[in-house]
Amino acid sequence: MPVWELSSAARVVPPARPRKLAKVPFVELADGRLQGVVSSGSDAGRVYVSSIATGTYAFACSTNNNRPCGGARGSFCNHIRALVGEAVLQYGAERVARYLKADTGETPGTETDAHRLVALMTATRPAQGDTSAAAPVFSRFLRHLAYLELEPTTAPLPEMQWFPPTRTVA
Ligand SMILES: [Zn+2]
Repeated sequence: MPVWELSSAARVVPPARPRKLAKVPFVELADGRLQGVVSSGSDAGRVYVSSIATGTYAFACSTNNNRPCGGARGSFCNHIRALVGEAVLQYGAERVARYLKADTGETPGTETDAHRLVALMTATRPAQGDTSAAAPVFSRFLRHLAYLELEPTTAPLPEMQWFPPTRTVA
């Protein structure tokens, strides 16, 4: 059994391409949404929690204090656009499109990129979703930061006990 299977610390999936963590420190495909934390362009002390729902592309953006983002009225704000860009770097455009159920109408040889993905979603005039996911996403981000600070270890980590062990079927 490889050593990492004995470890209770979750490995961070290496990004498909290097990302600028300062701009979008946290991005995940979870709970039926592309969601994450985006730094404010103007205020270094402020972050936004942005999300796009799978299938409907219903979008939401608010600060971590649950103040609505002024830019996310009627269409995607710059934070949501930045989130898509970084998700494409982290997971690859195909995987992000698949998760969001975005039909990119791919012809072989062409590649989906963040720009196309945003254009495709905004063309459907998605509705503004609610920001109820902001608090749990933000707290997961904080926990994520805490785990990044831990040294890799094979000792049990009680908070990770719910995490099902990964086994490779031979
Ligand atoms: Zn925003």
